[in-house]
Amino acid sequence: MMERPTMTHDVAIVGAGPAGLAFAASLTGSRLRVAVIERQPAAVLAAPPVDGREIALTLRSVRALQALGAWDRIPAEGTAPLREARVLNGGSPFALAFGTAASGEEQLGHLVSNHLIRRALFELVDALPGIEILAGRSISSFRNDSGGVTMALDDGTRLESRLLVGADSRFSWVREQLGIGAEVNRLGRSMLVCRVEHDGDHEGIATEWFDHGQTIAMLPLNGRRSSAVLTLTSEDIARLAALEAEALGAELTRRYECRLGRMNIVGKAHVYPLATTYARHFAAPRAALIGDAAVGMHPVTAHGFNLGLASARLLGKLVSDAARQGGDIGASLLLRRYEATHRMASRPIYTATNLIVGLYTAEHPAARAARHAGLRAAARLPFVSRSVSRMLMQP
Ligand SMILES: Cc1cc2nc3c(=O)[nH]c(=O)nc-3n(C[C@H](O)[C@H](O)[C@H](O)COP(=O)(O)OP(=O)(O)OC[C@H]3O[C@@H](n4cnc5c(N)ncnc54)[C@H](O)[C@@H]3O)c2cc1C
Repeated sequence: MMERPTMTHDVAIVGAGPAGLAFAASLTGSRLRVAVIERQPAAVLAAPPVDGREIALTLRSVRALQALGAWDRIPAEGTAPLREARVLNGGSPFALAFGTAASGEEQLGHLVSNHLIRRALFELVDALPGIEILAGRSISSFRNDSGGVTMALDDGTRLESRLLVGADSRFSWVREQLGIGAEVNRLGRSMLVCRVEHDGDHEGIATEWFDHGQTIAMLPLNGRRSSAVLTLTSEDIARLAALEAEALGAELTRRYECRLGRMNIVGKAHVYPLATTYARHFAAPRAALIGDAAVGMHPVTAHGFNLGLASARLLGKLVSDAARQGGDIGASLLLRRYEATHRMASRPIYTATNLIVGLYTAEHPAARAARHAGLRAAARLPFVSRSVSRMLMQP
């Protein structure tokens, strides 16, 4: 391959997913020269395909996207209010409800399709000065030491930077190359997500129903539409995903016990095998991990991108502040500060989410009794529901 001249940047970001793009956008005004390396082509980044994910954004995340200038790029009809979240257990009539009473806000957050978030962030970043998006390319090797980072891309491009940021998802190649291990839990289950139209009114309430042998969530979209999220063993999900739309609609209606009336599938179903990951470190010499590369959450508590956005904003602020003060943007003290702060913010919610998943998907009678008792107890303790509501609204 022909040798190309070396490109010099201050920051190189691997991955133009929502976390990588939000981090790039948060460096606005710092005058840093930024490269974003993304293996998908520019045309796909500019018009990302629907991927079935409806992201429950906390109000804090909405404010963060507003501050970055991305929120206004999401069409208003593409966002739906989330007023309440309810957890149901098997056939029990008890529901644990998380509302807005503790905060005085009108809603818990907004549901927005992942492809609209990606599109808005790409449009924003693509128009910002000082940021170069190297699309359709992957990083094939790099060396990081206290002096800086040198990288080679798969098309022969060579790059130098003072800081490398891995935003390349939960099975991060950058994380692996940095020699950073991760807790990885492959759950042997998969999620099927699709949009459904239904007769009943969801009233802006999201429901997470942990039934015997299945978990089914309904996330309220605009009108009489919801995003259905069904979790089963990976084999069962593969079987359902192969059904025709009509048969799948009938299956979801039956599995949801007609709570929202008859359901018809809109668009197509998407399947996500479930795995959670937590990196043992979020920083290395002149390198940091953000988004899912740092913390790959189970989607059940809808915190993956909320945490990813928080990590992008936190690192963005530390790096921008250092640049403005003429400091070293890749200093190990700065990176350790980022790591400590983001671990404190993410570890409790990561652990709590995994405990919830373990308790609610265990099928032995003792676990069923425990979650039934847990729900009843929690329903009698208003502070539990208040603190979970606060937690839902925070990250
Ligand atoms: C079904 C489902 C529902 C969810 N619901 C919610 C929710 O309600 N709320 C919430 O907050 N989160 C939710 N999430 C989580 C959220 O989608 C993720 O946390 C978020 O997308 C992670 O963003 P990211 O930028 O870190 O990674 P990604 O979105 O995975 O982006 C990574 C990018 O890096 C690129 N890349 C990877 N490797 C390389 C490489 N070697 N070189 C160049 N480019 C590379 C990829 O092409 C990709 O563009 C959900 C997830 C799923 C699966």
